[in-house]
Amino acid sequence: MAKYTVTLIPGDGVGPEITDAMVKVIEATGVSIQWDVQEAGEEVYQREGTPLPERVLESIKKNKVAIKGPVTTPVGKGFRSVNVTLRQSLDLYACLRPCKSYKGARTRYEDIDIVIVRENTEDLYAGIEFKKGEAETLRLIEFIEKETDRKIREDSGISIKPISVFGTERIVRFAFEFARKNGRRKVTAVHKANIMKFSDGLFLEVAQNVARDYPDIEFEDRIVDNMCMQLVQKPELYDVLVLPNLYGDIISDLGAGLIGGLGLAPGANIGDEIAVFEATHGSAPKYKGLNKVNPLAMILSGVMMLRHLGEDEAAQSIEKAVAEVIEEGKYVTYDMKPTPDDPTAVGTSEMAQAIIDRIKT
Ligand code: NAD
Repeated sequence: MAKYTVTLIPGDGVGPEITDAMVKVIEATGVSIQWDVQEAGEEVYQREGTPLPERVLESIKKNKVAIKGPVTTPVGKGFRSVNVTLRQSLDLYACLRPCKSYKGARTRYEDIDIVIVRENTEDLYAGIEFKKGEAETLRLIEFIEKETDRKIREDSGISIKPISVFGTERIVRFAFEFARKNGRRKVTAVHKANIMKFSDGLFLEVAQNVARDYPDIEFEDRIVDNMCMQLVQKPELYDVLVLPNLYGDIISDLGAGLIGGLGLAPGANIGDEIAVFEATHGSAPKYKGLNKVNPLAMILSGVMMLRHLGEDEAAQSIEKAVAEVIEEGKYVTYDMKPTPDDPTAVGTSEMAQAIIDRIKT
């Protein structure tokens, strides 16, 4: 019998190709996992009217650990993002995105080692939105005008930004606990408290309070726009960043850019009991079925999953093999070559095979 059962969601777009690569790499370590494969995304939506059937959630709740490929969110079709729904319905409140540079990766920076901790359930991503012109939107505009004496144009759409003490406290605590467990020296809270005093201001105030419980770890804060500039100019000053949902999403892509692109950026969504691992990037539909995109973000998400399961040795052996393949620069996908049309670029499955070959030797 397998040692672990893990829910595997291949996703759509390039999802199935990169999850297949990840599964083969993990299997090469000898860790025995039974994959409970669950379909979600666009095709399931066409067939069943929902992109995320209840059975997928049930499987994750039962197994407690899942790994998923990216899932497409069609724009403006009344189809909520599977990713956002998963995070909210399983209360996976912490999104963990390590940005670590590997020698040989095509990036302007060396020695980047930043961990982004993004709040996953609140903020402008809470999904509380009011469509332009609808009766409730007009009622809301009227209410706001009455209560605040501020005018909102009648032809406005409105998105609500809730940030709570509860939500902030647990994400900031998560960041400090992560820092402590992983020998990190500093946590930086990122916000725009100077403008949004009651949402981001609250985030900052709660973060400062939580920081008092962790005197062994340095704490500081940065305004998000300044943070963007600082990360581009002196990323080596930063260690663990903790951010509300929207800034966390944006800074995650900036972080991916620092280490050589989205193809290399892994991630995890973690709650008190359940963890779902996934790459930072999306389903890159234009590359679907072409065996072209970089499987590393997905494979490194698998490495994070192995560490979560306590399989540190297997995680280490994959990471070492990945580092060797990157440094050698031969068996890598187009995005890791000097130019995207480099004829020596290999495909998704060939890059995975090069990693497997190094695990086995
Ligand atoms: P994307 O991340 O899918 O792709 C943007 C570009 O980044 C691609 O065109 C490609 O050039 C590059 N890229 C992405 N992954 C790569 C890889 N592994 N290797 C090499 N290059 C890679 O972003 P998008 O085009 O904005 O989104 C496409 C769809 O994915 C949307 O429907 C979006 O909602 C969804 N999405 C899903 C997730 C998720 O499932 N967690 C995350 C982000 C976006």
